[in-house]
Amino acid sequence: MPIWPPTHWRRWWPTGSGRRDVLMLTGVAVAPGEALGPAVVARLRAHDVRYRIANEDVASEQARLVAASDRTRSQLEEIRDRTRHVLGTELGAMFDVQLLMLTDPLLRERADALIRTRHVNAEWAVVEAGEELMQRLRAIEDPYLQERHGDLSDVLGRVRANLQRNDSDAGWLNAQLSRFAEPCVFVADDLPISVAAQLDWTRLAALATDAGTRTAHTAILARSMGIPAVVGLQEATRIVPPGAILLVDGTAGVIAVDPPQTVIAATRHRLRPVAAPQPSLSGPALTADDQPLHFFANIERPEDVPFAWREGAEGLGLVRSELLLGGQPIANVNEQVQVEAYRAVLERAVDREVTIRTFDITPEEMGLPELFEVESRERLGMRGLRLGLVRPELLERQLRALVRAGAGRRLRILFPFVTSSDEVSRATAMLGAQAEKLGLPPPPAGVMVEVPAAALDAGRLARHAAFLSIGTNDLTQYTLAADRSDVRVLHLYDPKHPAVLKLIRMVVRGARRHGRRVAVCGEMASDAALLRVLIGLGLREFSMAATSLRQAREAVRECTLAEARDAALRALYEGSAAAAPAP
Ligand code: PEP
Ligand code: MG
Repeated sequence: MPIWPPTHWRRWWPTGSGRRDVLMLTGVAVAPGEALGPAVVARLRAHDVRYRIANEDVASEQARLVAASDRTRSQLEEIRDRTRHVLGTELGAMFDVQLLMLTDPLLRERADALIRTRHVNAEWAVVEAGEELMQRLRAIEDPYLQERHGDLSDVLGRVRANLQRNDSDAGWLNAQLSRFAEPCVFVADDLPISVAAQLDWTRLAALATDAGTRTAHTAILARSMGIPAVVGLQEATRIVPPGAILLVDGTAGVIAVDPPQTVIAATRHRLRPVAAPQPSLSGPALTADDQPLHFFANIERPEDVPFAWREGAEGLGLVRSELLLGGQPIANVNEQVQVEAYRAVLERAVDREVTIRTFDITPEEMGLPELFEVESRERLGMRGLRLGLVRPELLERQLRALVRAGAGRRLRILFPFVTSSDEVSRATAMLGAQAEKLGLPPPPAGVMVEVPAAALDAGRLARHAAFLSIGTNDLTQYTLAADRSDVRVLHLYDPKHPAVLKLIRMVVRGARRHGRRVAVCGEMASDAALLRVLIGLGLREFSMAATSLRQAREAVRECTLAEARDAALRALYEGSAAAAPAP
């Protein structure tokens, strides 16, 4: 029966070259903090600990399965013979059925194959192969065979019992926890305090349990040990693949399963033990000839704001609002929830500038799959501002929430996926109307330039917008007709292609003509060589992942404006392969 409210959902997470669907779990936050580590999954109540094995352990795990099956066979033969002797041949024959099941290739060979191909422990392989066989039995119309599922569970239970080691639960678990080089996230159905107390807590990065409440002993222990913990997840042991990398937020009670590499790297960076804290950076970054440049951060979570400041961000140049709301179907997120989410960022930013982008999602991500019967998964369809304009009540709701949250703060609003000045006028008119209704001033509204049409017509857009922000991630894919999430055309996805650079130069000129600020907020700016080219094209403002800021600030210190211009000219006129070498 489905669990309600659901304890897991999927969110879209940007990966640098696209976005990925990530499984998220929600539970009860019981011990604050963030942690990252491989999952060790244990079902302690069922005594079937599940974990992944290394390549070199496959043979020994297969041998364990053979030994347990052999032991089960001799036990069953002995029971059968005893039953025959005491109760007669007919009852004894029941155990022949179990013996047949034990040697059925659908069980033995399948379990062996699961160990070999999926690298799972023998217990897990037996459970999985058993479940598959059980399903086959259920599907057979023959009532006699359907009745046999009781025998099958009996056999499976016996094999699993024979797989059990003599070790105590805790000793056994500690062995699993030490299989990984880094501390693990221990995912259990429940963690009795007696077992918890014996665990090697130095091997634990975080705890996650299906059961549990805030006041459970395990939760108290986790808090006192300073280990992030989320409990009450209900289904974590069923759905978390052992060995998956988990990002645990013990403050929010949320776990991401196998988040994108960029997120893992950023989190590791954030959580890394720093021998000597890095000095906090501030003020404009300077080129080698002391020309000031402005660096801002792209963030997704309010908690990341202090890190962005430490890394030298002047403000926040891109807050992807759909991600701030945790990937929930946006159509269901009411105005007040949105106000709070935006406020959480703005309050942390205090008096620094924050640019929040309106939702850049498809109807599917919006929670409106019914909006278009044939919804193309291509990125040329209904998304971003287009979607907001055909569902004005949703855009108005977001704009109202932004105006309310931004009152008295330095908020700017950014419209994504714009292709014409008409869209900008309609959206800014909508913003003005909502602000007027609220009796509050409308925040300045800018435009993402991420489609060739917008770049080619940047001057006109600049007239209608307060500022421009170049989204090079999308601009590159649309200019080169190379889907940023399709690995097959990855070699064609080249932000330093002269065509992309020429469009960027047009945007800079268009913005200048109308005295508008213009920034780059795509990944391109975080590449040191490309950053130099962008400076050469006239850009002075950049927004990037906070983890890239320090290195970018250092890189620009190495080059003068004249060198940057030279790099840009070479890249523009000598082709993409001749783009400037890294400083
Ligand atoms: C971009 O397209 O460059 C951008 C910053 O937006 P996103 O990556 O969210 O599409
Ligand atoms: Mg984009």
